[in-house]
Amino acid sequence: MNEVILCKYGEIILKGQNKGWFESILIRDMRQRMKRFGEFEVRYAQSIVYIEPLNEDCDIDAAYEEAKRAFGFAAISRAAVVAKDINAICDCAKEYLPQYLFGKKTFKVEGKRSDKRFPLTSPQIGAEVGGAILEAMGGRIKVDVNNPEITVRVEIRDQKAYVHAGSVKGAGGMPIGTNGKGLLLLSGGIDSPVAGYLIAKRGVIIEALHFESFPYTSERAREKVLSLAEIVAGHTGRMKVHIISLTHIQEELVKHCEEDYFTLLLRRFMMKLACMVAKKRDCEALITGESLGQVASQTMRALTVTDIVTDRPVFRPCIGMDKEDIVSIARKIDTFETSILPYEDCCTVFTPKHPRTRPELYKVEAQEEKLDVDALIEEAFETLVTHEIRIY
Ligand code: ATP
Ligand code: MG
Repeated sequence: MNEVILCKYGEIILKGQNKGWFESILIRDMRQRMKRFGEFEVRYAQSIVYIEPLNEDCDIDAAYEEAKRAFGFAAISRAAVVAKDINAICDCAKEYLPQYLFGKKTFKVEGKRSDKRFPLTSPQIGAEVGGAILEAMGGRIKVDVNNPEITVRVEIRDQKAYVHAGSVKGAGGMPIGTNGKGLLLLSGGIDSPVAGYLIAKRGVIIEALHFESFPYTSERAREKVLSLAEIVAGHTGRMKVHIISLTHIQEELVKHCEEDYFTLLLRRFMMKLACMVAKKRDCEALITGESLGQVASQTMRALTVTDIVTDRPVFRPCIGMDKEDIVSIARKIDTFETSILPYEDCCTVFTPKHPRTRPELYKVEAQEEKLDVDALIEEAFETLVTHEIRIY
């Protein structure tokens, strides 16, 4: 029996004249994604992407898992493909569906006839296939049209009929590459990988920038960040990871500035350097993982003092989330277990005992005047190295 994967568009459906452009990017992304799992035909019609294996070697289970991760879809299902003949459809339902229906108590069938030349109406299709299923299941399941445990769908489309046992939610969002490029400030923590994922999900290509402070931070801390980047890239396909050393900047801060201001001053250096990398790499926005009030550097005032040095928007998708919400997304996207590995971050190396929660800009600037900021920034920028992660 031939099986296909059907991916129903999410928000792209709402696009008017631009829909074709979104579709072409979506289909290119899906073809790339599927290449790893064998030879598939990937095409679209009527707001659905069809992924069809072309030979026995295709790994359709892996392809299905991948489709669930792809941005741009509201729902994903697996379906059997059959000729547009009601007897063939009923035979197919008897053979294909029991694997999904065993253990369930109630079901209903929804027929859908996109091809109006098909001789049976949608309710008639539902009734015929429902009867076939009852026969195949031998009393182990009942019909419940109001509140079924599982809904079987039979769709009569242009060329073929499709029989499927319900769908699962897709990843949602917009196809990667439809919304520009952003630079994610990626630490080894829980929040920034989630922030990167959420913005990527809106169709943004993500590059990452990580700051380290060797030897105060270790080689293993760097490896951890690269692993996190690789997990996020599993959702987005690829990611460049830029790494900059803040060692000298931090040493100068410790030498010349008041301890209470270390974190804020460091964050302003990070933002300035991030803008330079963003400019070089054509990233139109920065992305960070702050959540309002989570720590001293994430109060409204502290964020104002850091944002003032930037020359482009800073996206903070976690800003209104509780830690618990962020953790649940981190678990869903598989970054959580890596994020909680206990390696140091450059922000935690010289943490002040009493960080300012309501910093005043002029005081921060006065601290900064004790340093040769431009020279330090230029020197740090010279340390930039780039890793490239490519999943598909
Ligand atoms: P996270 O869990 O993302 O590390 P956090 O709650 O620990 O966040 P902070 O350490 O205050 O928060 O960092 C706030 C944001 O600044 C991070 O979400 C991240 O975007 C950025 N950031 C912090 N440290 C680094 C770093 N070493 N390299 C790059 N970006 C960083
Ligand atoms: Mg952190």
